[in-house]
Amino acid sequence: MAFKSNRIQVDRSLYESFEEFVLNRTPFFPKFLEIFLTDTCNHNCPFCISADYRENKRNLPLTLVKKIADDMSGYPQSSIRLCGGGEPLLHPQIEEVLQYFFYKNCSTSIVTNGHLLVGNINNIIGEICREVRISVDAGNAQIYAVAHGVKERVFEKLLNNIRQLVANKGIHKYPVIELSFVVNAYNLASLPDFIELAVELKVDRINITMNTNDAFSDQRMLLKRCEELLPISPIGLEISIHDSPADFFQPDCTLLCPAVILNGLIDSRGYYFPSCHHVRDEHFVWGKLNDCLGLKALVSSEAFIDAQYSYIFKRCLKLKKLAFRPDNLLLVNHLIQSAVLKERASRLLLD
Ligand code: SF4
Repeated sequence: MAFKSNRIQVDRSLYESFEEFVLNRTPFFPKFLEIFLTDTCNHNCPFCISADYRENKRNLPLTLVKKIADDMSGYPQSSIRLCGGGEPLLHPQIEEVLQYFFYKNCSTSIVTNGHLLVGNINNIIGEICREVRISVDAGNAQIYAVAHGVKERVFEKLLNNIRQLVANKGIHKYPVIELSFVVNAYNLASLPDFIELAVELKVDRINITMNTNDAFSDQRMLLKRCEELLPISPIGLEISIHDSPADFFQPDCTLLCPAVILNGLIDSRGYYFPSCHHVRDEHFVWGKLNDCLGLKALVSSEAFIDAQYSYIFKRCLKLKKLAFRPDNLLLVNHLIQSAVLKERASRLLLD
């Protein structure tokens, strides 16, 4: 097959820190942190997971952004992704934000709708980011206009912005440029055109996802139909496909895997959630950054660690079932096999 899974990979070096966390409550600094810089967006996608928040027009204060970057710089294995929430390029100090992360040597990527990817910001992103994911979600201007709630002419502008980014990158390895396609019943038919477009634009990757707030049964059906539309021979760029399988999630959409502590998400208010899947209902706010409490101090606080413990060990995690999935396989197997962890995690459901 020409595509491969894009799910969380857990590398072996994380075992020790995960075990330290479980056994000794040693704080676990997130390996991968997403940041919702702003709630504002210039598009209006019907599938937007942040539709309920966009009217708030909140921006994460630069002081808090800098505190995150200061702490991240002490963890070279960790990386950040600026995403939405809203459209990150609408943060009023976006250039300063990017430059500060760069100055602090943080591995930074961005997810953008690409509308404002012009001029200086296009150059800055090209120089600073490891990865740029651009949400396209359509293979032509008509579908795009509906999928993004914008005028059709925006599509051509977007393509020009992508061309410019690709040209700026030239022969360099970074940023990895990826186009994404959130599949729904409306845009599915334009997937082959989208793939063709990506090849023509000479981007590095395509990310196709069903991972939305839609019912799992609908996502499964879309995944099947998507796979039928994918090219059967290599097309010169990587295609990853990402669904949110029902056995990986609780009915309330919270992740059903202990590996969730590897990740984190800071929203535009400074609230810390385990992942973007937890933001909508606000059931799992693990803490809040403020001018006195930075990220490192937050994840080291007793209350935060209690929240993580509660999440991992007070829920009926069906670990063996999860172990059959490629996601987090190594970590889950490790949890099952480790005698010490097993004893400590006796409340885990191992059937
Ligand atoms: S571009 Fe992104 S943040 Fe903006 S409306 Fe669409 S999905 Fe939401």
